[in-house]
Amino acid sequence: MADKNEKICIIGAGPAGLSCAMYLEKKGYSDYVIYEKLNKVGGKCWSPKLKVKHNGVEEERSFETGAIMGAITYHAVSEMEEFGGYYHKGPDFKKGEPNMRREFRNLDGTVDHPFEPKVNFSIKKTLKLLKLKKQMKKLNELMKTKYAGYDCYGHIGVAKGEYYGISKGVDGYCGATKETSFPNYIKGTNPNLKDLALPFSEFCKLNGVEEVQRIWIAPFTSFGYGFFDEIPAALVMKYLDVTTALEFVNMKLWTWQDGTQEIYECVNKKLKHPAVLETEVVKVERPDGKVNVTVRKNGEESTETFDKLIVTTPLDYFKDYADATAEEKELFGKIIHERYCDYIATFEPGKSPNISGYMVDNMVPERLGHAMVYYNRWQHLDRDCPATVYALANHTGTPDVDYDTVMKTMDEDMKKVGFPIKEKLFAQEVYYCPHVSSKDYADGWYDRLEALQGNLNTYYAGEIISFGDMEDTCAASKDIIGRFF
Ligand SMILES: Cc1cc2nc3c(=O)[nH]c(=O)nc-3n(C[C@H](O)[C@H](O)[C@H](O)COP(=O)(O)OP(=O)(O)OC[C@H]3O[C@@H](n4cnc5c(N)ncnc54)[C@H](O)[C@@H]3O)c2cc1C
Repeated sequence: MADKNEKICIIGAGPAGLSCAMYLEKKGYSDYVIYEKLNKVGGKCWSPKLKVKHNGVEEERSFETGAIMGAITYHAVSEMEEFGGYYHKGPDFKKGEPNMRREFRNLDGTVDHPFEPKVNFSIKKTLKLLKLKKQMKKLNELMKTKYAGYDCYGHIGVAKGEYYGISKGVDGYCGATKETSFPNYIKGTNPNLKDLALPFSEFCKLNGVEEVQRIWIAPFTSFGYGFFDEIPAALVMKYLDVTTALEFVNMKLWTWQDGTQEIYECVNKKLKHPAVLETEVVKVERPDGKVNVTVRKNGEESTETFDKLIVTTPLDYFKDYADATAEEKELFGKIIHERYCDYIATFEPGKSPNISGYMVDNMVPERLGHAMVYYNRWQHLDRDCPATVYALANHTGTPDVDYDTVMKTMDEDMKKVGFPIKEKLFAQEVYYCPHVSSKDYADGWYDRLEALQGNLNTYYAGEIISFGDMEDTCAASKDIIGRFF
């Protein structure tokens, strides 16, 4: 019988840490603490408010430096919304709401219409689109048949040709009822799933569906999740399962009026124990069935003893401040993360983009460090509204691009396509999308992580478990709390 009086420490108040706390409460636990090193919750869901002009009058609006959108398949996030009482807008947006319209822009500044057969009509374009449509249909069918079982959260068993996890099905609350039960785990054997360890480009080649990468690339590579020649297909297809990918194509997306950070601020306010802010975990020791956690707050260190620890922060850093075992050190040392850079900027008068846009030609490793996407959140406002610009700075097998060069390159790109930057209001590089290589995936890295769950009273949650988006992260919390607490 689980002891609901156990004292639990959660490291990090991002989507993972806060969802762990919410699911613990739903299961009847109440003695937990969340430590957060920053002075805010939400982690990479960070939505600063900026002054903008609407019909010449100054107003305050939320901007996004991190997470922006969701889709109908965001079940765990829906549970967070319900708990916090704060809900998304979309997929149909009203006037005054942020919306998700976008364009495709060539590097010479002209607008492209790659998926509209009637615009710039040519036989070649039409044939290419027909081929794409045929391959989309084929992939959809293959995922339902040859790769049956791919659509659950997480990677348990995949490298062995098995699957086990909460169903990502489009109905309901990713399995659970509104109460506290955690049903709807799917489990089975399917040797074909081993193919999902291959880099996505090889997986597409193997299945004769190379064209579909044209659909997946924009919401994957431009969103900083890496290039298809290196990222295991499992990560691509679990995040952008066919339903979610089609929601992107059809722009049936969600966003949040006051920003994604507000989802987590609202959840935090409703928790029995809101996160303890500005408190960094600097040491973890796990002797004799207990967990001693040392935190630093206002320069002072103090240590508290817990029964259990849930780590939702980067595991490749955890090994540096915890008494990591040889297995933890070896496993966590294999984690790769993306270096994703973005900035919010104002543009020269009248030169701000008035819609969001993808620059697909920059979504290849040869153009590392170049702007891949710009995001105009408030498309109905005056033309001088700021927008966010994004680029990737690393790729396996290519030298990293340093931060200053990325910033400069993005400025040049934006100028070339017709949107010269005036001033940067915010700029950052983030630790992003932790994952492992195709080889480590095939060698069973995720099963080794699963085998570690609970050892030394330590549980691992966060974006590493399934994928680096809000939904997979919150669903991973649901899975871990559901199975181990
Ligand atoms: C530019 C960008 C765009 C994105 N777009 C989307 C999107 O459109 N849709 C989507 O679903 N997702 C998106 N994401 C991804 C999403 O934000 C992340 O997957 C999600 O935030 C991961 O949650 P997490 O809790 O695992 O980690 P994080 O959000 O990184 O939270 C970890 C928290 O732990 C804290 N912490 C770290 N170390 C310590 C320590 N030692 N002690 C105490 N606290 C610590 C950090 O300060 C942080 O608050 C985007 C992210 C970025 C950066």
